[in-house]
Amino acid sequence: MATRSVSDPFPAEALAVRARGVTRTFGDRTVLRGIDLDIRPGEFVALLGRSGSGKSTFLRALAALDTEVTGEIFVPEQRAVGFQDPRLLPWARVLDNVVLGLPGSDSSARGLQALAEVGLADHARDWPKTLSGGEAQRAALARALVREPALLLLDEPFGALDALTRIRMHRLVAELCARHHPAVLLVTHDVDEAVVLADRVLVLTDGVISLDRPIASTFPRPRLRSDPRFAELRSELLAELGVEDDGSLTADSVPDSVPEPELVLDPQESSS
Ligand code: ADP
Ligand code: MG
Repeated sequence: MATRSVSDPFPAEALAVRARGVTRTFGDRTVLRGIDLDIRPGEFVALLGRSGSGKSTFLRALAALDTEVTGEIFVPEQRAVGFQDPRLLPWARVLDNVVLGLPGSDSSARGLQALAEVGLADHARDWPKTLSGGEAQRAALARALVREPALLLLDEPFGALDALTRIRMHRLVAELCARHHPAVLLVTHDVDEAVVLADRVLVLTDGVISLDRPIASTFPRPRLRSDPRFAELRSELLAELGVEDDGSLTADSVPDSVPEPELVLDPQESSS
């Protein structure tokens, strides 16, 4: 019952998440109705759903942050969670936020490397309040990555960012995931974000996964918004969400050509 981590006979090399019959009731309202889900190691899964459909409830269950959920959940010990609010401690400098609680005498070096990977090497000694929203979210990503998670759980991490910053974050996340290949569950209500980033897109409706759509094999990256396959997938997903695609919902109508973010991406340089 409830949540268990993998250290027992669970075949961790075969699956990063194995959830069976995950159910959550608040009072007389059942929000999750027996969800079954497998996620393979290194697989990037996006979870879409209308507001209030239970996305965050499910993510909290996988993160073992909810002790009242029922069903079976197997997740790796090594996991990290990110939220819309970067949740940096205001009284700790950026680097200290990244390495807080991280064991090992080389934690500072690893933290600096993670900051370099997200383009924040120059901000290691800064206070969180001096960072922009995008920078704070990148610091939160560094904090997650430095833990070398086998499973990365992200709950609308870019929801508070402006459109261009969000696009840059998409590129960064795609790049970091390609390099570190954790399994990812990205909760989002942004259909375009899901199509850009995921190997597979799920839709949560009425407490169950109503659509489980693999896209990696049929639509290789980079997935340009101008590609007809993009529009097709968007329409399919919007229909599943019960939203009509009238062309106005194209995630801020962002062009494909967005300037590259200024990133310092040379993690090998400082790796030990
Ligand atoms: P989503 O992330 O998809 O917007 P949530 O998982 O946050 O949705 O919430 C799903 C439903 O569960 C909502 O109706 C919400 O009000 C309800 N809910 C979530 N957490 C609690 C809680 N701690 N107590 C009572 N109801 C909750
Ligand atoms: Mg939510």
